[in-house]
Amino acid sequence: MKSRRDFLLELGGSAFSLPILSSLTSNDADATIADKQLKVVLVGLGSYAERVATAMKDCKKAKLVGGVTGTPSKIDTWSSKFGVDKANFYSYKDFEKLKDNPDVDAVYITLPNSMHHEYVIRAAKMGKHVICEKPMSVSVKQAEEMIAACKKAGVKLYIGYRMHFEPYTRELIRMRKAGELGKIMHVNAYFGFKSGDPNQWRLKKALAGGGALMDVGIYCINAARYATGEEPVWISAEEAKTDPVKFKEVDETITWQMGFPSGVIASCATTYNFNNFERLYVVGDKGFVELSPAYGYGPIKGRTHKGEMSWDTSKMHQTWQMDGLADCILNGKPDPNVTGEEGLKDMKIIDAIYKSIAAGGKKIML
Ligand code: NDP
Repeated sequence: MKSRRDFLLELGGSAFSLPILSSLTSNDADATIADKQLKVVLVGLGSYAERVATAMKDCKKAKLVGGVTGTPSKIDTWSSKFGVDKANFYSYKDFEKLKDNPDVDAVYITLPNSMHHEYVIRAAKMGKHVICEKPMSVSVKQAEEMIAACKKAGVKLYIGYRMHFEPYTRELIRMRKAGELGKIMHVNAYFGFKSGDPNQWRLKKALAGGGALMDVGIYCINAARYATGEEPVWISAEEAKTDPVKFKEVDETITWQMGFPSGVIASCATTYNFNNFERLYVVGDKGFVELSPAYGYGPIKGRTHKGEMSWDTSKMHQTWQMDGLADCILNGKPDPNVTGEEGLKDMKIIDAIYKSIAAGGKKIML
């Protein structure tokens, strides 16, 4: 006989459906998992790290135990705000001291993009599991080296693709897998915002690697892949640059197409220069899902051919994410589609998009 857990896994296709329906599962054997907690150190205590730390206050299976920072004045605040022992804060120079701290199972890299490569590899060498923010790197080569280093060290590498843990997104994936949308015919994905401070690292190529595409366009790339369940075989792209001064070093607005083996084309766009730009629309021959907003911190909203969607929005995405990843690392649950290999697939697509732009919109085969 199938257990309720089996049933839920079939519904959502992975262990990560469970948080969506958490009220149904409170008596399941999973309750015992709370005995174990994944002890995590955040590396780079900026605004996203602060969001993750806040979300982790509600985690059952993951716990924030420390931080790595180049700004010593943050230690007092972080320690009192998040209840973290001051002894568990390190400088970047002292990063390797984490190796001898048995209270640390995993490090979560929340540094500017171009620093991910170095810190993932240094963490892997210490034998710590690694969670790394998106984009995982600033080049395909770097991504491959990061995966190889984690493999060699026998540690997990996950990318911070939080949407894979978010209920509306999970429902979209479930519906697509269950055939409720029929054959997928088209995907439309866009995400962007108007960037502020012209001096921020996000506009500097050396730290960011690229502009809107690397930062938020990557959500659309990832979404086109989970909306179709396919990997693209070609890319074509163009850039619109309306402010060449502010966006001197990085891309401003990019539109691109991703062609899939089934013949489906995803039409995508991203920007750093205007707001109100956030949607994922997946159309099949039997139905559709439209999420808008689709990638921000929420609440995500959506509708399908059956009507308005209504899913649990009570938790921060990162709470689900960190509990979900803890389950994989501590309890051997199957990896969701957020591994280093998944990050590498997105990096190859980003690379092809930039190549297409450089070649005047030419179709690039993958
Ligand atoms: P912030 O600028 O807010 O924070 C980055 C932190 O990195 C800084 O506060 C600083 O922390 C540290 N740092 C070390 N060296 C540098 C440097 N040379 N320049 C700037 N900062 C430095 O960035 P975010 O938190 O917004 O982004 C960090 C990462 O998280 C990025 O990769 C981004 O793409 C990703 N991100 C992911 C999101 C998601 O939803 N998954 C959302 C937002 C960001 P300290 O002072 O402690 O050393």
